[in-house]
Amino acid sequence: MAPALVLVGSPVGHDRHDTGAWHPERPARLDAAMRGVDEPGLGEAIGVLEGRPAGPAELARVHDERYLEALAQFAAAGGGRLDPDTVASPGSWDTALLSAGMGLAAVEALSAGEAGAAFVVGRPPGHHATRDRAMGFCLLNNVAVAAASLTAAGERVLIVDWDVHHGNGTQDIFWNDPAVLYASTHQWPAYPGTGRADETGGPGAPGLTINVPLPPGATGDVALAALDEIVAPAVDQFSPTWVLVSAGFDAHREDPLADLAWSAGDYADLTARVMGYAPRVIAFLEGGYDLSALEHSVAATVATLAGETWRPEQATSGGPGRQVVDRVLRLRAELA
Ligand SMILES: [Zn+2]
Repeated sequence: MAPALVLVGSPVGHDRHDTGAWHPERPARLDAAMRGVDEPGLGEAIGVLEGRPAGPAELARVHDERYLEALAQFAAAGGGRLDPDTVASPGSWDTALLSAGMGLAAVEALSAGEAGAAFVVGRPPGHHATRDRAMGFCLLNNVAVAAASLTAAGERVLIVDWDVHHGNGTQDIFWNDPAVLYASTHQWPAYPGTGRADETGGPGAPGLTINVPLPPGATGDVALAALDEIVAPAVDQFSPTWVLVSAGFDAHREDPLADLAWSAGDYADLTARVMGYAPRVIAFLEGGYDLSALEHSVAATVATLAGETWRPEQATSGGPGRQVVDRVLRLRAELA
C-alpha cells in the first residue's frame, strides 16, 4: 500500500518569537522537529501545508478580545515577561498568529480532502493558554482555535493531549462544551498543577474531560493502556469526526523539564491509536525540550501518520502508573 499523504506546516523561517538566550522553548526546536519530519525519508508522502495568520474572529472563538488586544500591544511595545516562564518579543504576536493559523489551514486542507492527516510544527506552544491569560510558554491556544473552528461547523472533536504537562487552557476552554472530548495524560505532580483525575467536565459536558495523572517514571505502556481502556470506550460513545493531538514530546525520558520515561517508539504507538479514533487527524507540536529526543519522536509520529513504520527507539514498559489507569476507570464507572 502506498503511504498516505501527511501535510506538514511550520512557521520555521518566519519564526520571530525570541524567548532569549537560555529559554528552553527556543527557535532551534522547530529546526529539530523539521529534521524529524525528514528523518524517515518519507518522500512524496510529505506535502507542504501552506499557512496563513489566524484572523481576529477565529481567535475570538476561544480567547477574550481584550486579552488579544493587550497581547498584541504588549509585543508591539517591545515585549517582556508575561509571567515567570512566559515571554513575548516584538515578533511574538505575528509568529503566534502564524502558528494558530497553520492549524486552521490544516483544517481547511483536510476538509477539502487534500490529505487525511497533518502535522503543525509551530511555536509558541498553546495548550496552557486560557481564554484570557498567557502562561507556560503559551500565548494563543493553537489546538483550541482549530477545534473551535470545527465545532462552529458542526463537527465533533476529540483532543488527545499527550504533552507531559496538563493542558489546563484547553480543558478550561472546552470544560462545558458538549462538542469536544478532551483527554490528557500528564505527569503528576507537575506544572501547572491542574489535571486531577476527578476533573471530568462541567454540567454541560459531564465526563467529556478525561485526566490521567501519571507518576514520575511512568512508561509508554501505561499511556497506551490509558488510551485503550479509558479513552477508546469514551470515543466509542462520543463518535468524534476529527482528532486533534496536543503533541508535546516532553514525556520522553531525555526531556530536561519532566520525569516520565517514554521513548520515540512510544509516540509511534500512541499515534497509531489516535488514528483509529476518527478519519482525520491533526497533530500540533506542544512541548519537547531535548532536541534529539524531539527530532526522533517527531520522526516516529510523522512516519506513523503516513502509515509507515519508523522506530528510532524501542517502546518502553515496566514503569509505575497502572493503578492510576484503574483509579480513573473506577471514577468513570461512578460517573456513568
Ligand atoms: Zn509540556
